[in-house]
Amino acid sequence: MDYISTRGNAPALGFEDVTLAGLASDGGLYVPRDWPTLSRDEIAALAGKSYVDTAVAVMRPFVAGALDDAALHALCTEAYGRFDHAAVTPLVQLDHQHWLLELFHGPTLAFKDVALQLLGLLFERFLGHRDTTLTVVGATSGDTGSAAIDALAGRANVELFMLHPQGRVSDVQRRQMTTVLAPNVHNIAIEGDFDQAQAIVKALFADQEARGRLNLGAVNSINWARLMAQVVYYFYAAVRLGAPEQPVAFAVPTGNFGDVFAGYVAARMGLPVAKLIVATNVNDILARALGSGDYSMQGVTPTAAPSMDIQVSSNFERLLFDLAGRDGNALGAMMTTFDSEKKLDLPPTMVAEAANLFASARVDPDTMAMTMRWAYEHAGQVIDPHTAIGLAAARSFAGGDVPIVTLATAHPAKFRDAVERATGARPTLPSRLAGLFERQERYDTLPATLAAVKDYVLERS
Ligand SMILES: *Cc1c(COP(=O)(O)O)cnc(C)c1O
Repeated sequence: MDYISTRGNAPALGFEDVTLAGLASDGGLYVPRDWPTLSRDEIAALAGKSYVDTAVAVMRPFVAGALDDAALHALCTEAYGRFDHAAVTPLVQLDHQHWLLELFHGPTLAFKDVALQLLGLLFERFLGHRDTTLTVVGATSGDTGSAAIDALAGRANVELFMLHPQGRVSDVQRRQMTTVLAPNVHNIAIEGDFDQAQAIVKALFADQEARGRLNLGAVNSINWARLMAQVVYYFYAAVRLGAPEQPVAFAVPTGNFGDVFAGYVAARMGLPVAKLIVATNVNDILARALGSGDYSMQGVTPTAAPSMDIQVSSNFERLLFDLAGRDGNALGAMMTTFDSEKKLDLPPTMVAEAANLFASARVDPDTMAMTMRWAYEHAGQVIDPHTAIGLAAARSFAGGDVPIVTLATAHPAKFRDAVERATGARPTLPSRLAGLFERQERYDTLPATLAAVKDYVLERS
């Protein structure tokens, strides 16, 4: 499989190179040249298959040319063997229509583990063929950081620099990152918000000097391999609820548009997805863009669901690329306008086409808290604030009686204070995190400028 840039001006790459590359050299994001499809029979044949076997069947076309089935199977077995549930991503029924897909059984208790445990192994395998060090620089609104650190700590030939917005991640999230003392892990608290941290990472990837001196890699969802790994659980869940005969809708708590874009890929591959419900909190650029074409940045409001406190959703560009008829030059021009003016009016034809598959909802803090209480009182489920936003959007969706799966993206123990405020129940820390509050922390604090971060990274790589 060959990968091309959404901005039409970077070399096409194979899977191995695209995994190590992150952002394309023209500032675009890599996408497969064509969407592979699974036939109805191939989807039906996933019934009863293990998570690992499902993963191999779904990811096979994307890794073609870089990994054979046996290698892919071995990597998936290792990555998903570290999850503490035998189903890897179990489904939990809430009522006659609503289900939770629990994606938080990995080592750091958030759905990011599903992709990053595999990505860490892919890095190690692909770097083993080369004689280089990969400098991975990422920004996190909370969960990517700990999941990437867990996946990469101590691995050969990788240095990891992780930027988090100072004071805007939960104490559990921060400690999951800063208490990992492996010498190849560098935690940086940025004096700014997540969008500033993410902008610095993007600027570093575009910086000629940094590109020349470092071999830069990405663990954010700009990395194609991450999205690919997330496509698997859409198939896994839908098949268990009756696909391909029965279409299934998904509600997805959304920040960088990565997780829900994986659902879009599943639909392109032939999975009968009735709707993808994009759930946002009050930081609602995506709800505005999909609802009325208003793709304009506003300030970020900190909320109880910090992984969704984002205004610029990198992966939205991948959807816009398809909506623009895969014309990289046209999309490159649109994105240049957006980068300078911080706003874009999406053409009505694009909004209409997106509406065939996507719905969206903006969920305010009261509705979020009410939904946490509903899940607790009516189905005995303690859910985290991100999941609650997804479930609130699912419950407000008026799309007939298809089963709706809400992606449960984080374990409630990561957000204990918010959960306790809403439900009165305080989730206990799973044994995986025992001792977290006694461990030593290590991180440096930097101003929110490219220059400060660049110097820091160059000195330590
Ligand atoms: C990262 C994250 C999200 C948002 O996912 P995107 O892929 O960025 O849209 C939602 N919930 C939780 C708990 C997360 O960690």
